[in-house]
Amino acid sequence: MTRTKHNAKELAKVLSFARFLIWCVLHLHIEGTLDAELLLQLAKKYKVKLKWKTVAQIRAAYQFSSLDEFLALYYQGCNVLRDYDDFYTLTLRYLTRAARANVRHVEMFVDPQTHTNRGIELAMVIEAMADAALEAQRQFGMTTLLIPCLLRDHPIESGMDTVESILDIRQRDKRFKNWIVALGLDSSEANYPPKLFKRHFQRAKEAGLLLTAHAGEEGPPAYIRQAMKVLGVNRLDHAKRCLEDRKLVAELRRTQMPITNCPWSSLRLGVVNKLADYRLDTFLDEGLCSSIHTDDPAYFGAYEWQTLEACVETFGLTMDDLFQLSINSIVGSFASKARKIELKAEAYAGAARGFQHIQL
Ligand SMILES: [Zn+2]
Repeated sequence: MTRTKHNAKELAKVLSFARFLIWCVLHLHIEGTLDAELLLQLAKKYKVKLKWKTVAQIRAAYQFSSLDEFLALYYQGCNVLRDYDDFYTLTLRYLTRAARANVRHVEMFVDPQTHTNRGIELAMVIEAMADAALEAQRQFGMTTLLIPCLLRDHPIESGMDTVESILDIRQRDKRFKNWIVALGLDSSEANYPPKLFKRHFQRAKEAGLLLTAHAGEEGPPAYIRQAMKVLGVNRLDHAKRCLEDRKLVAELRRTQMPITNCPWSSLRLGVVNKLADYRLDTFLDEGLCSSIHTDDPAYFGAYEWQTLEACVETFGLTMDDLFQLSINSIVGSFASKARKIELKAEAYAGAARGFQHIQL
């Protein structure tokens, strides 16, 4: 399908339709929602000396040119996340912002090792996030799930200990049994193929967790195949480089494997030179189960709505495309069958209102 760039009038129409759609967030690192204001506030609380004094200086510092450069800053930011209140505030702050963008269901990534390595107790982190999630459900009717991720550039054994801690917390407290829904794999991808984590993923699967992994952002298509064949993932994060392999694309289409695309993140990390090079339109034209996400919105300077706007403008996305992306985000989620039915009903009702609105 050929899409043309929207003129100002068409762009306004498509965006005003998009305001009525609902979204599921499937690729969001909670630590990546630490905005400059909260970073300054927490640094003050803990008397941590930062290199930057103002919000503007922090934003200027977020001009990294690679995934590794970004991760160095990101882990520095995590250092001010220490007690229950910090994690509770961080989580509720993000969920409140997401609710304003019509997000109805959020699956949050958390990196346990980033915190346990600093002596922070994982159970406390999870409890704070769960309480914030409960408050978001009470205030906005929004549902959430949690996906702890293994840092692939950390020692393999530390990853195994992390899996055991997650399973232990999940078993000890019945609130977490279904809420901690899956195991993920993230951080620096190059030189850390998914197959290194075969045992970890097998153990998690046996204990009843679903599986997802970052693959094919920087790594080659072979890493995507490994995530599918060796780890047995239920979903792929990024998978941008699948487009380099025709057979892989055909398989992803046939299996309708959900893919969480993060175009703006790839632009900011220098994975692509310009947003158009991300080829989100190709993902749609190939009939893949693709949806758009923000990854680490505070660091990349774009939350859900800004990301969507940029994609509509760059790829000339149509109203049909947007509706498809909304539905894909529901289909690709790990929500229960019953919740997916509710979300789909909301999506259809929203789209109907959107069409009515633009025809007025
Ligand atoms: Zn990510």
